[in-house]
Amino acid sequence: MLEYNDHIAVALSGGKDSLTLLHLLVKLEARFPRTDLTAVCVDEGIDGYRDEALRLANNACTELGVKQLVVSYRELFGTTTDQIAHAKLSQTPCASCGVLRRKAINKAATIAGATKIATAHNLDDEAQTVLLNMLHGDPLRITRSGPVLKDPRGKFMPRIKPLCDIPEKEVMLYAYLTGLDFQSVACPHGHEALRNDIRAFLNQMEVKHPGTKFTLLRSAERLRTQMGSQLPLSELHECIRCGDPTPHELCEACVMLEAVAA
Ligand SMILES: [Zn+2]
Repeated sequence: MLEYNDHIAVALSGGKDSLTLLHLLVKLEARFPRTDLTAVCVDEGIDGYRDEALRLANNACTELGVKQLVVSYRELFGTTTDQIAHAKLSQTPCASCGVLRRKAINKAATIAGATKIATAHNLDDEAQTVLLNMLHGDPLRITRSGPVLKDPRGKFMPRIKPLCDIPEKEVMLYAYLTGLDFQSVACPHGHEALRNDIRAFLNQMEVKHPGTKFTLLRSAERLRTQMGSQLPLSELHECIRCGDPTPHELCEACVMLEAVAA
C-alpha cells in the first residue's frame, strides 16, 4: 500500500475509524523519515453534527502534531449536505454526499501535495459494499474498487484502505483502549436503508457462520484479480464544468450539483 517516501493524505472525519487510522499511520510514519502525512478534513455542512467531529479531528491533529487541511462543500461546491438532503434527489443523501466527499478529499490531497489518499474503511464497510454492489445490479463495480486503487491511466491519486481487513469491533476496541475521543453520534442524514439491512444481515451471518465477512472480502479480491485487468478502461475526458477526469461530458459531482441547483 505504501512506499517509503509517500506523502499520505489521511481522510479524517473525527469518527472512531479515521482517528484509529490516523493514530496507526502516525506510529508507522515515525519509522520512515522520508514519509510525510497530512490529515484532510471535509466540512460537508451538516448542522449540529459536523462541528463536533471537526473539533475532535482538530484536537487529535494538535495532540499528534499532524498537519491538518480542512475544506468545505460550501467553498468548493457552493452547497451543503443539508441543502442536498433538502433537494430530495433520486439518490440518497449518503450517496450524493459520498460523491462530493471523494471529490473534496481529492482536492484537499492535491493541495497538500500528497501522493496517496488513505481512507478508514474497515472490514464491515467493505463486506457491505460488495453485497450492496451485487444488490444494486452493479457487480463490475466490485472489480473497480478494493483495498488499493491505482488508476492505470494515472488520472486519479491512488487510494488505499489500510483497515480493510480489520473488523469494525476490533477498530472500536482499539479506539476505546487507546482512549480516543471520537464522535459517537450518527449523521442525521444517514438513513441508507439498504446498507443498514445488509449490515444487520451480515452481523447475523457472522454470529451463525464466523468468517462470513472475510470470505466476502476474499471473494471480491478473487474477482478483481481474475477479471479486473480484462475489463476495458473507459476513456477519460475533462469535465466541461470542473475539468476533473470523467468518462462523460459532465462528472458525477457536476451532474448532481446541477440537479441541486435546479
Ligand atoms: Zn465536473
